[in-house]
Amino acid sequence: MKLVAGNWKMNGMRADGLALAAELVRRAREADGAEPVVCELLICPPATLLAMAHEALTGSGIALGGQDCHPAAKGAFTGDISAEMLADAGCRYVILGHSERRHGHGESNALIREKVAAARRAGLVPVLCVGETLAQRQAGEASAVVAAQLAGCLEDHDRVHELVVAYEPVWAIGTGLTPGLDDIRAMHAVIRSDLSPETRILYGGSVNPANAAAILGLPDVDGALVGGASLAADTFWAIARACG
Ligand code: PEP
Repeated sequence: MKLVAGNWKMNGMRADGLALAAELVRRAREADGAEPVVCELLICPPATLLAMAHEALTGSGIALGGQDCHPAAKGAFTGDISAEMLADAGCRYVILGHSERRHGHGESNALIREKVAAARRAGLVPVLCVGETLAQRQAGEASAVVAAQLAGCLEDHDRVHELVVAYEPVWAIGTGLTPGLDDIRAMHAVIRSDLSPETRILYGGSVNPANAAAILGLPDVDGALVGGASLAADTFWAIARACG
């Protein structure tokens, strides 16, 4: 089943975060009988909203995820959050290696590899983000960059356990730009050739209700990681419906 994941990033206060989660739950319940949504839904709110979101989502079938974790289980790491804490808060997934962490926080493939191991240790499914910058694409290096990120962030055993990989070209995130469908298809085929058939490969980068059906209909596109359009129930729901 395809996976549509919402990355809320650093957005949401208790009131609007709860309202959004509650509205998604309402739609999921309503759709359950008449027009079932044919994908798995995941929301990844900021850490401050996880407990509240967990409560709101209970029994709805919508999964909860964190946006990052520290490699250690606990300790003197001010401001960080561990994979164990995310699991304790009700998370099933954790986004790792998002480009806003790679580029904004200087995260290396080696550090992300440790975080993937931490997610496994805590029983979470990693959602590993990979993707090239515009300069790398223009230099014809996109496939090599993504292959190196996969090699640098994953152990062999990660390929046989439940894993989600999100292909997110850095230049497409939050810009309204997307690669051509042929480019998405080609990159997903490259990623698939490195991973097991069970691994879900998501596309992320300016997915919206207008482009979702075409992207989600491509071979080896097993869902979407959605940023901006996940902050409103109407747009997130329209993307989820595009899976069908
Ligand atoms: C993201 O940040 O993971 C993302 C895909 O953002 P957007 O959909 O806003 O481009």
